[in-house]
Amino acid sequence: MKLIEKLKEFQEGQKALLATNFYNFETLKGIMEAAKEIQLPVILQLTKSSIQYMGLQNAVALARSAIEYYRVESWIHLDHADSYELIEQCLKAGLDSVMIDASEFPLEKNIEITRRVVKLAANYGANVEAELGYVAKLGQSTDKTGYTEPGDVDLFVNATGVNALAVAIGTAHGNYKEKPKLDFERLRKISQITDAFLVLHGSSGVPDDQIIKAVEFGVCKVNIATEIKNTFMYNIKKLVNQTDEIDLRKVFPPAIDLIKELIIKKLRLVSM
Ligand SMILES: [Zn+2]
Repeated sequence: MKLIEKLKEFQEGQKALLATNFYNFETLKGIMEAAKEIQLPVILQLTKSSIQYMGLQNAVALARSAIEYYRVESWIHLDHADSYELIEQCLKAGLDSVMIDASEFPLEKNIEITRRVVKLAANYGANVEAELGYVAKLGQSTDKTGYTEPGDVDLFVNATGVNALAVAIGTAHGNYKEKPKLDFERLRKISQITDAFLVLHGSSGVPDDQIIKAVEFGVCKVNIATEIKNTFMYNIKKLVNQTDEIDLRKVFPPAIDLIKELIIKKLRLVSM
């Protein structure tokens, strides 16, 4: 099934697809074992940094072969692309879905950049996600000025033709200093205005009850990155300090198991 169809199915069922960033073989393995175990679909996400780290062809081949190996329903998505060129490379490499993040530009410019990407992606039958409003990146201010303005939603979706829309309703990327408090009233308004698939970014560290409520209020794609990266690295650090073992095939598995556990929990939270 194409991602767009699956998102539609989940939107109608008031559920969300979990979108997980992977960084290497080990994080990918943990994610896929989780999805396999509870038989739920998952979106595999790559960022520009992960592509630079693994190499685009390697990263895509790794994901594709894992999808076949584990027989999990899954799609590959480019997260937070900041350039047309990167998107074009990824579409040529066979990605199912791309995000153009022009959210730091004024509305008109965001529309113009996003519309161009939608046109390009149509040649590949790919799903396009864009961001309206601004979800703070690591260390940036999280005040309400960046929140998605419900009044802009209709114009943005119609003028660009995007399928999926990342909304700014109180989440942020990276680690939270204070417990986030999502603006559900705003989310409700947005979901009443548009049929676009609403995406929650910065979901790592958001309390479970708020994630559940966001899905109830119309979010149908929930992105998790920071928690995956942190779970893996904090545990590798701990494991390395606790043992003299230097065989990576013995050191890594407990950290992979923790990724698996984390993803099972998140999949249940959003997709059941
Ligand atoms: Zn994001």
